[in-house]
Amino acid sequence: MPRTPIVGGNWKMNTDLAQAGTLAAEVRHRLGSQRGCDVVVFPPFPFLRPVTERLDGCRVEVGAQDVATEAKGAFTGAVAGAMIASCGASWVLIGHSERRSVFGDSDAVVAKKLSAALAVGLKPVLCVGESRSEREAGQTFAVVRRQLESALAGLATDTLRALVIAYEPVWAIGTGLVATPAQAQEVHAFVRGTVADLLGRAFADAVRLQYGGSVKADNAAGLWAQPDIDGFLVGGASLEAEGFAAIVRARRAD
Ligand code: PEP
Repeated sequence: MPRTPIVGGNWKMNTDLAQAGTLAAEVRHRLGSQRGCDVVVFPPFPFLRPVTERLDGCRVEVGAQDVATEAKGAFTGAVAGAMIASCGASWVLIGHSERRSVFGDSDAVVAKKLSAALAVGLKPVLCVGESRSEREAGQTFAVVRRQLESALAGLATDTLRALVIAYEPVWAIGTGLVATPAQAQEVHAFVRGTVADLLGRAFADAVRLQYGGSVKADNAAGLWAQPDIDGFLVGGASLEAEGFAAIVRARRAD
């Protein structure tokens, strides 16, 4: 079974209410009837509902950028999975490198967030990737394997049917440095092999893997061509609808 490509736009902590609405409308205009590639946008929490309203009835889906480990209660500032789902969003980023490095989310916290998302039926994009110093020390595979094992070990594949894994080398996120297609493919093949070890070959063959790190319209085609790259998680370039749509269009239809 061929894997349906999937491209996500992580708006991070950008836009205000009006800008989020405009950007959603522009994405809808360009990608709202897109077939052959799933598209998801990840606006900031306060704009989840207005953005889902703008995208209602079209093919672009909406996700949150993070989720609380707990379901409810005295956790000031946190946002539970059920709250996200109640806004009409269906996806969530889990373990984005900025959550790990800026907010200190450990592998254990990331695993709890994945479970919290699955418990309410949100579709998770699990983010993994090594830092520059880890790559330079030759630890890329060890770091990625540890992150995958910590998040996925022991989970049943039937709860993970919607799982997407984003390989995002930290040194390439927001830096303008993009992994070469060969570098990205090498780690993607490793991710798929590790998933096969953890969850079985059939699951690994079906799971969709995104690359993330300074993807733009002009560097997307070479990455799209790699056999284990099923799409992208796009940060900066997703804030401009035409550039974001051009990344989707850069895929050569099979
Ligand atoms: C991201 O936020 O996941 C990301 C890959 O950002 P950028 O495209 O800006 O590097």
